Amino acid sequence: MTFVVIRPSGELMIKSSYVRKYFLRKLIANVSSVITVKNWKADQGYVIIEGEGDINKLSHVFGISYYYTADEVNFSSVQELAVVTREKFKEIVKGKKFAVRVRRNGKHNFTSLDVAKEVGKELLPFSSGVDLNNPDVVVRIDILQNKAYLYSDEREGPRGFPVGSTGKTIVLFSGGIDSPVATWMMMKRGAKPLLLNVMLGGDIQKKIIIEEVKVLREWSGGEKIKVYFVDGIKLSIYLANVNKFIRVIMLKRLMYKLADELGKKSGAYSITTGESLSQVSSQTMKNLFVSEFGINRPIFRPLIGMDKEEIVEIARKIGTFELSSKMPEYCIISSKNTVRARLGEVLEGENKLNVDIRAVLNQAEVVEI
Ligand code: ATP
Ligand code: MG
Repeated sequence: MTFVVIRPSGELMIKSSYVRKYFLRKLIANVSSVITVKNWKADQGYVIIEGEGDINKLSHVFGISYYYTADEVNFSSVQELAVVTREKFKEIVKGKKFAVRVRRNGKHNFTSLDVAKEVGKELLPFSSGVDLNNPDVVVRIDILQNKAYLYSDEREGPRGFPVGSTGKTIVLFSGGIDSPVATWMMMKRGAKPLLLNVMLGGDIQKKIIIEEVKVLREWSGGEKIKVYFVDGIKLSIYLANVNKFIRVIMLKRLMYKLADELGKKSGAYSITTGESLSQVSSQTMKNLFVSEFGINRPIFRPLIGMDKEEIVEIARKIGTFELSSKMPEYCIISSKNTVRARLGEVLEGENKLNVDIRAVLNQAEVVEI
Protein backbone atom coordinates (compact mmCIF):
# COMPACT_ATOMS: atom_id res chain seq x y z
CA MET A 1 0.00 0.00 0.00
CA THR A 2 1.23 3.50 -0.83
CA PHE A 3 1.52 6.16 1.85
CA VAL A 4 2.58 9.77 1.98
CA VAL A 5 5.54 10.01 4.32
CA ILE A 6 6.56 13.28 5.93
CA ARG A 7 9.67 13.93 7.94
CA PRO A 8 8.81 17.02 9.99
CA SER A 9 11.42 19.72 10.67
CA GLY A 10 14.16 18.52 13.00
CA GLU A 11 13.54 21.32 15.48
CA LEU A 12 9.90 20.31 15.75
CA MET A 13 10.73 16.71 16.57
CA ILE A 14 13.17 17.48 19.40
CA LYS A 15 10.44 19.10 21.48
CA SER A 16 8.97 17.37 24.53
CA SER A 17 6.26 14.87 23.69
CA TYR A 18 3.41 17.17 24.74
CA VAL A 19 4.67 20.12 22.71
CA ARG A 20 5.53 17.88 19.77
CA LYS A 21 1.97 16.57 19.67
CA TYR A 22 0.66 20.12 19.57
CA PHE A 23 2.90 21.00 16.60
CA LEU A 24 2.11 17.74 14.81
CA ARG A 25 -1.63 18.29 15.09
CA LYS A 26 -1.21 21.75 13.58
CA LEU A 27 1.04 20.32 10.87
CA ILE A 28 -1.57 17.72 9.95
CA ALA A 29 -4.30 20.38 9.89
CA ASN A 30 -2.22 22.39 7.40
CA VAL A 31 -1.33 19.31 5.36
CA SER A 32 -5.06 18.46 5.24
CA SER A 33 -5.74 21.77 3.56
CA VAL A 34 -3.65 20.74 0.53
CA ILE A 35 -4.12 16.95 0.33
CA THR A 36 -6.83 14.61 1.64
CA VAL A 37 -5.75 12.92 4.87
CA LYS A 38 -7.81 9.80 5.71
CA ASN A 39 -5.59 8.56 8.48
CA TRP A 40 -2.22 9.38 9.96
CA LYS A 41 0.23 8.24 12.58
CA ALA A 42 3.42 9.69 13.96
CA ASP A 43 6.28 7.27 14.47
CA GLN A 44 9.84 8.15 15.54
CA GLY A 45 10.43 11.27 13.48
CA TYR A 46 8.10 10.22 10.68
CA VAL A 47 4.50 11.02 9.93
CA ILE A 48 2.82 8.32 7.86
CA ILE A 49 -0.29 9.47 6.05
CA GLU A 50 -2.95 7.46 4.32
CA GLY A 51 -4.35 9.89 1.84
CA GLU A 52 -4.40 11.24 -1.66
CA GLY A 53 -3.93 14.40 -3.67
CA ASP A 54 -1.18 16.39 -5.32
CA ILE A 55 1.78 15.94 -2.99
CA ASN A 56 3.71 18.69 -4.81
CA LYS A 57 1.67 21.10 -2.73
CA LEU A 58 3.52 19.91 0.37
CA SER A 59 6.50 21.94 -0.85
CA HIS A 60 4.66 24.99 0.55
CA VAL A 61 3.69 23.57 3.94
CA PHE A 62 5.96 24.83 6.72
CA GLY A 63 7.00 22.23 9.27
CA ILE A 64 8.07 19.66 6.66
CA SER A 65 11.72 18.92 5.96
CA TYR A 66 11.18 16.00 3.52
CA TYR A 67 8.18 14.31 1.94
CA TYR A 68 7.58 11.45 -0.49
CA THR A 69 5.20 8.67 -1.40
CA ALA A 70 6.36 5.23 -0.34
CA ASP A 71 5.21 1.60 -0.34
CA GLU A 72 4.74 0.16 3.12
CA VAL A 73 6.12 -3.35 3.62
CA ASN A 74 5.88 -5.63 6.65
CA PHE A 75 8.91 -7.84 6.94
CA SER A 76 10.45 -10.32 9.35
CA SER A 77 13.94 -10.76 7.91
CA VAL A 78 16.48 -8.80 5.91
CA GLN A 79 16.24 -11.39 3.14
CA GLU A 80 12.47 -11.00 2.91
CA LEU A 81 12.80 -7.20 2.73
CA ALA A 82 15.48 -7.49 0.04
CA VAL A 83 13.24 -9.67 -2.13
CA VAL A 84 10.27 -7.30 -1.86
CA THR A 85 12.53 -4.37 -2.66
CA ARG A 86 13.92 -6.21 -5.67
CA GLU A 87 10.43 -6.79 -7.02
CA LYS A 88 9.57 -3.12 -6.70
CA PHE A 89 12.77 -1.80 -8.23
CA LYS A 90 14.00 -4.42 -10.71
CA GLU A 91 12.37 -2.71 -13.71
CA ILE A 92 13.34 0.75 -12.52
CA VAL A 93 17.07 -0.03 -12.26
CA LYS A 94 17.20 -1.71 -15.68
CA GLY A 95 20.22 -0.39 -17.57
CA LYS A 96 20.94 2.07 -14.78
CA LYS A 97 23.50 2.59 -12.04
CA PHE A 98 21.92 2.51 -8.63
CA ALA A 99 22.61 3.08 -4.94
CA VAL A 100 20.74 1.83 -1.90
CA ARG A 101 20.23 4.17 1.03
CA VAL A 102 18.80 2.79 4.25
CA ARG A 103 17.62 4.59 7.40
CA ARG A 104 16.80 2.49 10.42
CA ASN A 105 14.74 3.30 13.53
CA GLY A 106 14.04 0.84 16.34
CA LYS A 107 15.87 -2.19 17.72
CA HIS A 108 17.07 -4.78 15.21
CA ASN A 109 19.66 -7.52 15.05
CA PHE A 110 20.93 -6.12 11.75
CA THR A 111 22.41 -2.80 10.67
CA SER A 112 21.42 -0.43 7.88
CA LEU A 113 24.49 -1.54 5.99
CA ASP A 114 23.38 -5.20 6.20
CA VAL A 115 20.12 -4.23 4.50
CA ALA A 116 21.84 -2.12 1.86
CA LYS A 117 24.23 -4.97 0.99
CA GLU A 118 21.47 -7.56 0.75
CA VAL A 119 19.25 -5.33 -1.41
CA GLY A 120 22.24 -4.44 -3.56
CA LYS A 121 22.99 -8.09 -4.14
CA GLU A 122 19.38 -8.78 -5.19
CA LEU A 123 19.17 -5.85 -7.60
CA LEU A 124 22.62 -6.06 -9.11
CA PRO A 125 21.76 -8.60 -11.86
CA PHE A 126 18.91 -6.37 -13.11
CA SER A 127 21.01 -3.19 -13.27
CA SER A 128 24.14 -1.93 -14.93
CA GLY A 129 25.92 -1.75 -11.57
CA VAL A 130 26.21 0.05 -8.28
CA ASP A 131 27.37 3.67 -8.11
CA LEU A 132 27.23 5.13 -4.63
CA ASN A 133 28.43 8.61 -5.59
CA ASN A 134 26.55 9.36 -8.75
CA PRO A 135 23.65 6.89 -9.15
CA ASP A 136 20.90 7.18 -11.78
CA VAL A 137 18.43 5.65 -9.35
CA VAL A 138 18.43 5.80 -5.57
CA VAL A 139 16.65 2.96 -3.83
CA ARG A 140 15.58 4.33 -0.47
CA ILE A 141 14.39 2.28 2.47
CA ASP A 142 13.24 3.75 5.77
CA ILE A 143 12.85 1.06 8.44
CA LEU A 144 10.57 1.66 11.42
CA GLN A 145 10.62 -1.45 13.61
CA ASN A 146 9.10 -4.25 11.50
CA LYS A 147 7.83 -1.99 8.74
CA ALA A 148 9.80 -0.59 5.85
CA TYR A 149 8.97 2.25 3.49
CA LEU A 150 10.30 1.93 -0.05
CA TYR A 151 10.67 4.92 -2.34
CA SER A 152 13.04 6.59 -4.70
CA ASP A 153 12.56 10.36 -4.79
CA GLU A 154 12.50 12.35 -1.61
CA ARG A 155 11.60 16.00 -1.91
CA GLU A 156 12.62 18.85 0.30
CA GLY A 157 9.98 20.75 2.24
CA PRO A 158 10.32 24.36 3.42
CA ARG A 159 11.12 23.39 7.06
CA GLY A 160 10.14 25.82 9.88
CA PHE A 161 7.02 25.49 12.01
CA PRO A 162 3.41 25.01 10.85
CA VAL A 163 1.67 28.35 10.24
CA GLY A 164 -0.60 29.13 13.17
CA SER A 165 1.45 27.18 15.73
CA THR A 166 3.50 29.98 17.31
CA GLY A 167 1.08 32.91 17.65
CA LYS A 168 -0.26 35.84 15.67
CA THR A 169 1.75 38.79 14.45
CA ILE A 170 0.58 42.10 13.02
CA VAL A 171 2.56 42.75 9.85
CA LEU A 172 2.93 46.30 8.61
CA PHE A 173 2.40 45.47 4.98
CA SER A 174 3.20 48.03 2.30
CA GLY A 175 3.24 45.53 -0.53
CA GLY A 176 6.71 46.64 -1.65
CA ILE A 177 9.43 44.03 -2.02
CA ASP A 178 10.33 43.79 1.66
CA SER A 179 7.16 43.38 3.69
CA PRO A 180 5.86 40.29 1.81
CA VAL A 181 9.25 38.63 2.42
CA ALA A 182 9.13 39.59 6.12
CA THR A 183 5.61 38.09 6.30
CA TRP A 184 6.79 34.86 4.71
CA MET A 185 9.71 34.60 7.13
CA MET A 186 7.40 34.96 10.13
CA MET A 187 5.06 32.36 8.62
CA LYS A 188 8.07 30.08 8.31
CA ARG A 189 8.52 30.42 12.08
CA GLY A 190 4.88 29.35 12.53
CA ALA A 191 3.30 32.78 13.01
CA LYS A 192 -0.15 33.55 11.65
CA PRO A 193 0.07 36.98 10.02
CA LEU A 194 -2.59 39.69 10.23
CA LEU A 195 -1.71 42.38 7.72
CA LEU A 196 -2.14 46.10 8.22
CA ASN A 197 -1.77 48.40 5.26
CA VAL A 198 -1.83 52.17 5.44
CA MET A 199 -3.34 52.99 2.08
CA LEU A 200 -1.59 55.86 0.41
CA GLY A 201 -1.99 54.72 -3.16
CA GLY A 202 -5.68 53.90 -3.60
CA ASP A 203 -7.06 51.07 -5.67
CA ILE A 204 -3.92 50.10 -7.60
CA GLN A 205 -2.05 49.54 -4.34
CA LYS A 206 -4.95 47.59 -2.90
CA LYS A 207 -5.27 45.34 -5.94
CA ILE A 208 -1.56 44.48 -5.93
CA ILE A 209 -1.66 43.78 -2.20
CA ILE A 210 -4.58 41.40 -2.60
CA GLU A 211 -2.70 39.54 -5.34
CA GLU A 212 0.38 39.32 -3.09
CA VAL A 213 -1.71 37.97 -0.24
CA LYS A 214 -3.08 35.28 -2.57
CA VAL A 215 0.53 34.20 -3.19
CA LEU A 216 1.31 34.19 0.54
CA ARG A 217 -1.92 32.30 1.14
CA GLU A 218 -0.43 29.38 -0.79
CA TRP A 219 2.12 29.09 2.03
CA SER A 220 -0.28 29.37 4.96
CA GLY A 221 -1.92 25.93 5.03
CA GLY A 222 -5.47 26.22 6.27
CA GLU A 223 -4.92 29.64 7.84
CA LYS A 224 -6.77 32.48 6.15
CA ILE A 225 -5.04 35.85 6.00
CA LYS A 226 -6.82 39.06 6.98
CA VAL A 227 -5.79 42.45 5.64
CA TYR A 228 -6.76 45.70 7.37
CA PHE A 229 -6.74 48.62 4.96
CA VAL A 230 -6.42 51.90 6.85
CA ASP A 231 -7.08 55.25 5.19
CA GLY A 232 -3.58 56.72 4.78
CA ILE A 233 -4.73 59.94 3.14
CA LYS A 234 -6.53 60.90 6.34
CA LEU A 235 -3.35 60.24 8.32
CA SER A 236 -1.21 62.26 5.96
CA ILE A 237 -3.56 65.22 6.33
CA TYR A 238 -2.79 65.17 10.07
CA LEU A 239 0.90 65.31 9.16
CA ALA A 240 0.66 68.14 6.65
CA ASN A 241 1.92 70.78 9.08
CA VAL A 242 4.66 68.73 10.69
CA ASN A 243 8.34 69.62 10.09
CA LYS A 244 9.10 67.71 6.89
CA PHE A 245 12.37 66.29 8.27
CA ILE A 246 10.53 64.21 10.84
CA ARG A 247 7.31 63.57 8.93
CA VAL A 248 8.28 60.07 7.83
CA ILE A 249 9.20 59.13 11.41
CA MET A 250 5.90 60.48 12.67
CA LEU A 251 4.04 58.45 10.05
CA LYS A 252 6.02 55.37 11.00
CA ARG A 253 5.07 55.89 14.64
CA LEU A 254 1.41 56.11 13.68
CA MET A 255 1.77 52.84 11.79
CA TYR A 256 3.38 51.13 14.77
CA LYS A 257 0.65 52.48 17.04
CA LEU A 258 -2.06 51.21 14.73
CA ALA A 259 -0.35 47.81 14.70
CA ASP A 260 -0.04 47.87 18.48
CA GLU A 261 -3.74 48.65 18.84
CA LEU A 262 -4.72 45.95 16.33
CA GLY A 263 -2.50 43.52 18.24
CA LYS A 264 -4.36 44.34 21.43
CA LYS A 265 -7.72 43.84 19.72
CA SER A 266 -6.79 40.57 18.03
CA GLY A 267 -4.52 38.85 20.55
CA ALA A 268 -1.33 39.25 18.53
CA TYR A 269 1.76 39.63 20.69
CA SER A 270 4.14 41.08 18.13
CA ILE A 271 4.50 43.45 15.21
CA THR A 272 6.49 42.58 12.09
CA THR A 273 7.99 44.96 9.53
CA GLY A 274 10.14 44.68 6.43
CA GLU A 275 12.79 47.07 7.74
CA SER A 276 16.47 46.41 7.14
CA LEU A 277 19.14 48.37 8.99
CA SER A 278 19.98 51.63 7.19
CA GLN A 279 18.33 50.58 3.93
CA VAL A 280 16.78 54.06 3.82
CA SER A 281 16.95 57.04 6.16
CA SER A 282 13.87 56.01 8.17
CA GLN A 283 15.64 52.75 9.00
CA THR A 284 18.77 54.09 10.68
CA MET A 285 19.31 52.73 14.16
CA LYS A 286 18.51 56.06 15.79
CA ASN A 287 15.32 56.48 13.76
CA LEU A 288 14.16 52.95 14.54
CA PHE A 289 14.70 53.73 18.23
CA VAL A 290 12.65 56.92 18.00
CA SER A 291 9.99 55.29 15.81
CA GLU A 292 9.27 52.44 18.17
CA PHE A 293 9.65 54.29 21.47
CA GLY A 294 6.71 53.48 23.75
CA ILE A 295 5.27 50.72 21.57
CA ASN A 296 4.12 47.84 23.76
CA ARG A 297 4.64 44.89 21.46
CA PRO A 298 8.01 43.54 20.38
CA ILE A 299 8.75 44.55 16.82
CA PHE A 300 10.19 41.76 14.72
CA ARG A 301 12.27 42.72 11.72
CA PRO A 302 13.26 39.46 10.04
CA LEU A 303 15.13 41.34 7.28
CA ILE A 304 17.21 43.55 9.57
CA GLY A 305 20.54 41.99 8.59
CA MET A 306 19.86 41.33 4.92
CA ASP A 307 20.77 43.39 1.89
CA LYS A 308 18.39 44.09 -0.99
CA GLU A 309 19.79 41.32 -3.19
CA GLU A 310 19.22 38.71 -0.52
CA ILE A 311 15.68 39.98 0.02
CA VAL A 312 14.94 39.97 -3.72
CA GLU A 313 16.19 36.39 -3.98
CA ILE A 314 13.64 35.26 -1.41
CA ALA A 315 10.90 37.38 -2.99
CA ARG A 316 11.52 35.60 -6.30
CA LYS A 317 11.53 32.19 -4.65
CA ILE A 318 8.22 32.71 -2.86
CA GLY A 319 6.56 34.35 -5.86
CA THR A 320 5.89 37.91 -4.68
CA PHE A 321 8.69 39.74 -6.54
CA GLU A 322 6.85 40.34 -9.81
CA LEU A 323 3.83 41.78 -8.03
CA SER A 324 5.91 43.91 -5.65
CA SER A 325 7.80 45.40 -8.57
CA LYS A 326 4.53 46.74 -9.94
CA MET A 327 3.88 48.67 -6.74
CA PRO A 328 4.32 52.39 -7.36
CA GLU A 329 6.29 54.39 -4.76
CA TYR A 330 4.17 56.94 -2.95
CA CYS A 331 5.71 60.34 -2.40
CA ILE A 332 2.80 61.85 -0.48
CA ILE A 333 5.13 62.16 2.48
CA SER A 334 8.25 64.27 1.92
CA SER A 335 11.31 62.21 1.15
CA LYS A 336 13.58 64.76 2.85
CA ASN A 337 14.12 62.85 6.03
CA THR A 338 16.60 63.21 8.86
CA VAL A 339 18.77 60.22 9.68
CA ARG A 340 18.82 61.18 13.39
CA ALA A 341 15.36 62.21 14.59
CA ARG A 342 15.22 63.67 18.11
CA LEU A 343 12.91 61.74 20.39
CA GLY A 344 11.74 64.81 22.33
CA GLU A 345 10.82 66.72 19.22
CA VAL A 346 8.96 63.76 17.71
CA LEU A 347 6.97 63.02 20.87
CA GLU A 348 6.07 66.68 21.29
CA GLY A 349 4.92 66.89 17.68
CA GLU A 350 2.90 63.74 18.12
CA ASN A 351 1.09 65.13 21.15
CA LYS A 352 -0.04 68.10 19.09
CA LEU A 353 -1.39 65.85 16.34
CA ASN A 354 -3.64 64.00 18.73
CA VAL A 355 -4.62 61.25 16.30
CA ASP A 356 -7.38 58.95 17.56
CA ILE A 357 -5.68 55.66 16.70
CA ARG A 358 -8.61 53.53 17.81
CA ALA A 359 -11.07 55.46 15.65
CA VAL A 360 -8.80 55.26 12.58
CA LEU A 361 -8.43 51.51 13.08
CA ASN A 362 -12.16 51.01 13.57
CA GLN A 363 -12.75 52.54 10.16
CA ALA A 364 -10.36 50.12 8.45
CA GLU A 365 -11.69 47.99 5.64
CA VAL A 366 -11.06 44.31 6.36
CA VAL A 367 -10.54 41.77 3.60
CA GLU A 368 -9.99 38.07 4.29
CA ILE A 369 -8.26 35.83 1.79
P1 ATP B 1 8.76 47.63 1.52
O1 ATP B 1 9.52 47.04 0.39
O2 ATP B 1 8.21 46.58 2.45
O3 ATP B 1 7.73 48.60 1.05
P2 ATP B 1 10.60 49.72 1.79
O4 ATP B 1 11.94 49.28 1.37
O5 ATP B 1 9.77 50.45 0.80
O6 ATP B 1 9.81 48.47 2.35
P3 ATP B 1 9.81 51.63 3.77
O7 ATP B 1 8.85 52.23 2.84
O8 ATP B 1 10.70 52.50 4.61
O9 ATP B 1 10.81 50.62 3.08
O10 ATP B 1 9.02 50.70 4.75
C1 ATP B 1 9.63 49.96 5.73
C2 ATP B 1 8.59 49.07 6.38
O11 ATP B 1 7.56 49.87 6.97
C3 ATP B 1 7.87 48.20 5.39
O12 ATP B 1 8.58 47.01 5.13
C4 ATP B 1 6.58 47.94 6.11
O13 ATP B 1 6.75 46.95 7.12
C5 ATP B 1 6.30 49.28 6.77
N1 ATP B 1 5.49 50.13 5.88
C6 ATP B 1 5.92 51.08 5.02
N2 ATP B 1 4.89 51.66 4.37
C7 ATP B 1 3.77 51.06 4.82
C8 ATP B 1 2.35 51.21 4.53
N3 ATP B 1 1.91 52.08 3.64
N4 ATP B 1 1.49 50.41 5.19
C9 ATP B 1 1.92 49.51 6.11
N5 ATP B 1 3.22 49.34 6.41
C10 ATP B 1 4.13 50.09 5.79
MG1 MG C 1 7.79 50.67 0.70
